[in-house]
Amino acid sequence: MKFGIATVSISGNLEEKIEAIAAAGFDGIEIFEQDFIADARPPGDVGARIRDAGLEVMLFQPFRDFEGLPGKLRQKAFDRAERKFDLMQELGCDLVLVCSSVHPEALGGIDRAAADFAELGDRAAARGLRVGYEALAWGKHVDDHRDAWEIVRRADHPNVGLILDSFHTLGRGIDPDTIRRIPGDRIFFVQLADAPLIDMDPLYWSRHFRNMPGEGDLDVPAFMRAVMATGYSGPVSLEIFNDQFRGGLPKSIARDGHRALVHLMDQVRRAEPDLSVDLPEIPPPVPPNGLAFIEFAARGQEHDALADHLRTLGFSKVARHVGKALTLWQQGEIRIVLNAETQGHAGNAFAGSGTSICDIGLSVSSSGDTAARARALGAEGFEQSRQEGELEIPGIRGLGGSVLHFLDDRLGDVWNVEFERAEEPGQGAGLTRIDHIAETMSYDEMLSWSLFYSALFGMQKQPMVDVIDPDGLIRSQALSTADRNLRITLNGAETHRTLAGEFLASRFGATVQHVAFATADIFGTVAALDDLGFASLPMSSNYYSDLAARFDIEPERLARMQASNILYDRVGEAEFYQVYSRPFAGAMFFEIVERRGGYDGYGAPNAPFRIAAQKRLGRPKGMPRR
Ligand code: MG
Ligand code: MG
Repeated sequence: MKFGIATVSISGNLEEKIEAIAAAGFDGIEIFEQDFIADARPPGDVGARIRDAGLEVMLFQPFRDFEGLPGKLRQKAFDRAERKFDLMQELGCDLVLVCSSVHPEALGGIDRAAADFAELGDRAAARGLRVGYEALAWGKHVDDHRDAWEIVRRADHPNVGLILDSFHTLGRGIDPDTIRRIPGDRIFFVQLADAPLIDMDPLYWSRHFRNMPGEGDLDVPAFMRAVMATGYSGPVSLEIFNDQFRGGLPKSIARDGHRALVHLMDQVRRAEPDLSVDLPEIPPPVPPNGLAFIEFAARGQEHDALADHLRTLGFSKVARHVGKALTLWQQGEIRIVLNAETQGHAGNAFAGSGTSICDIGLSVSSSGDTAARARALGAEGFEQSRQEGELEIPGIRGLGGSVLHFLDDRLGDVWNVEFERAEEPGQGAGLTRIDHIAETMSYDEMLSWSLFYSALFGMQKQPMVDVIDPDGLIRSQALSTADRNLRITLNGAETHRTLAGEFLASRFGATVQHVAFATADIFGTVAALDDLGFASLPMSSNYYSDLAARFDIEPERLARMQASNILYDRVGEAEFYQVYSRPFAGAMFFEIVERRGGYDGYGAPNAPFRIAAQKRLGRPKGMPRR
């Protein structure tokens, strides 16, 4: 199966688009006419350039307002078509997309349209070309692929076929299973796009809000399963009109597109095992069991300050690396590595971003399979020179240049193989595991990373939440595995004045801004933290007055919460308790949470007050601004 993408899907000039599309591994390209017209080269040269880049010119699009026109207008439409056929022959492209007419004078009638297409088919056949007909969701007389198919069927011409576009079918709520009745060899081309569900004019929705399959809310896998069930064996191609992508980097948009298609076809293959999908098989997405470790790059004073901070949270330095400046801090199932190396990835991370999380370890059932799936999805592998006796743990580059390592049972032994015992574990503060990590990125990158996590690990997205920072808006997207063993929140900052934006501006690329630890007894934990000298983020008394007004909380309990700066949220009977640390190393922080009664969120209603409290506090003393 061949993968294509329409030039309109990505930013840049035609040359930049061709380079990005070829680099991402696509087989072909749909030429959007405007991209061609904007180019200065003659059509023959453009076609040759595309083929030189290793790409096929799969489709020329769009040819508009063709069918159903009366009298002279009809004649003119055929004349226009002949001129486009000339151009296609020079480009070396044999298929044109004709979209259903929106011409004010176009007449309806399936037979009238079929007769027009039969004649166009003759003209195309004389030149060895083919015509594909697509129903636009806002077409004047034809806005449904079932009607477009009926016109193609009645045109009854071997050079006239149907073009399907997932947006036009799913966006109008048409059951994709109606596609299963169409003979696969009568479908000439398939275009794919997803979109978030927004109630608006379909034309505007389509031109501005389409996104990659898996990034939106449409059931593109169901659409594609129906297409494959027809026996269709032609290309699948992305046609994405998206304002954000128009401003994005061509190479990363193209890479996301290819990743989305690999993921989509993998879903189709798994859902319809009887269908033959002519693509290499890849390992299935296996949700991680949780976070095996997080690793900070930290040196000098900052390292020592972070180590002290961990002690006040109840962590013990249980082991040190046998050959490197690495220490392992543990409490419950939580492992935190402090890496003070001056060389290698951690050394570079510290030099570039200061104290930061440079590496995340995920517990997986098979390190090898997870890494193989990541590579098939276009992730960049990560390797670093190893010393003798060090295990080879597969890794990839993750968000913002950070590294993700995959540990399975065998590699989980790394703590015994590469580390030696340091101190006896202390009492701790009742922290059991990592509840979630929160990664910060620019808003433009959020779709890209949620696609990455959902494609690689089968993580599910929760609805996006807007968080109000005193200085701007932050979009928050939570992803989790079905069993909730791994939870990640992605926070997209739109301005540099937000806390998230400031964090981002101080780093090279995006990375983890906070780590939340779980406790089963928040009041026991805060009592232990008091003894350990932990300094929590002070919350205002206004916050607690508001809590008292919003929720029915016993005064004694509320007083204990206020005394320990515990934040609270409730949904139905489910309760959430949170305590934040003060910011460290710029704008990073820790969080401690207790979930009761199946609370599944992240305390979003509290976020504006938490952010305001952090901003009131300003930068911690002794921590340089970066
Ligand atoms: Mg289309
Ligand atoms: Mg959080």
